[in-house]
Amino acid sequence: METSFTHPLPYGRQHITDEDVAAVVATLHSDFLTQGPRVAEFEAQFAAYVGASYAVAVSNGTAALHLCALALGVQPGQRVITTPITFAASANCVRYCGGEVHFADIDPATGLLDLAKVRALLEAHPNGHFAGLIPVDFAGLAVNLEEARALADEFGLWIIEDACHAPGGYFVDKQGQKRYCGSGQLAELAIFSFHPVKHIATGEGGMITTNDEALARHLRRLRTHGIEREATGLLRQDEGGWYMEMQELGYNYRISDILCALGSSQLARADEGLARRRQLAKQYDVAFAATPGVTVLAPGHEGHAYHLYVIQVANRRGLYEFLRTKNILAQVHYVPVHRMPYYEKLGWQAGDFPAAEAYYARCLSLPLYPTLTDDEQAYVVACVREFLAQPAA
Ligand SMILES: *Cc1c(COP(=O)(O)O)cnc(C)c1O
Repeated sequence: METSFTHPLPYGRQHITDEDVAAVVATLHSDFLTQGPRVAEFEAQFAAYVGASYAVAVSNGTAALHLCALALGVQPGQRVITTPITFAASANCVRYCGGEVHFADIDPATGLLDLAKVRALLEAHPNGHFAGLIPVDFAGLAVNLEEARALADEFGLWIIEDACHAPGGYFVDKQGQKRYCGSGQLAELAIFSFHPVKHIATGEGGMITTNDEALARHLRRLRTHGIEREATGLLRQDEGGWYMEMQELGYNYRISDILCALGSSQLARADEGLARRRQLAKQYDVAFAATPGVTVLAPGHEGHAYHLYVIQVANRRGLYEFLRTKNILAQVHYVPVHRMPYYEKLGWQAGDFPAAEAYYARCLSLPLYPTLTDDEQAYVVACVREFLAQPAA
């Protein structure tokens, strides 16, 4: 094993091949840099990959969340429930529409929204009090959407699955069937991000998947200014070929053909990358099972897509600083959303979600990405053990 590396080891990074570069260059030489054939091609491929009927590509994952909230009709004052352990965007999309964000605590064993706590929250209010649920496949572990759907149906909620961490991930349902993240079978809508730390990189980019044709059509219109161009029956009929009309207030949340060419090229290797992530995670699991002082979050789950490999230690701050001196750029996912000053101003405070806060105090995401070598991983494990062997650790 190497004893150190001159290059930093981040918690996540993209893998760009010569084929990826060639795909982008070919698009740069083509007739369309944006609004050409590559967008629809990437959408069709991505829909097939997750097993959904429709996919709508957008400029980033946050735009995807915003459009989902708009398409589901989030109104000022409407209440939506999400998890405190997620990237802030999962909650912010509700605020963009003037809605109120509510949280339920996490299950400390998985890091996912605790559906028993969601139920308790729902039961404490009259039906209709909450409009929707935004569960997150945190770290790549799929939310059990069979249970979430049953709960949502009982209380009249829609579901947006934030699957940014989990393309290719799945859970096993009561019948023993694999239910893939974003397959559109159980949640109205699901969203993905193509930020370079995620499984599939386009630089910036996002995707919405659904099995609902009307929602897909509405999302496409909202993505491009609320404008309809095609003969949809919505347009005035006595106009020429130039005609388009703005039906509602939309946005420019489009993604370019350049980026979709990269996305398609990346997607073709997604299974390979996912298999390597799972192999690395298994190797970490084995190493840390033999390391006192380290607790692995949700080890050994079938279908885990492993965007993040999260451990928990007593002296997280100490380990974080120590690893930096070793050129290992571990990261914390996440500062709980309800502890963000913006959300504290809206009334949330420390102590509201004890499981999320206890998790946050101890969590650290270690390097995990397809091009991480076995030697690099062994070095990370050795450094974690070196820190824990120190008397003050
Ligand atoms: C990355 C991420 C987002 C936002 O995606 P962007 O493409 O960065 O806008 C939303 N939710 C989760 C859980 C994420 O990890």
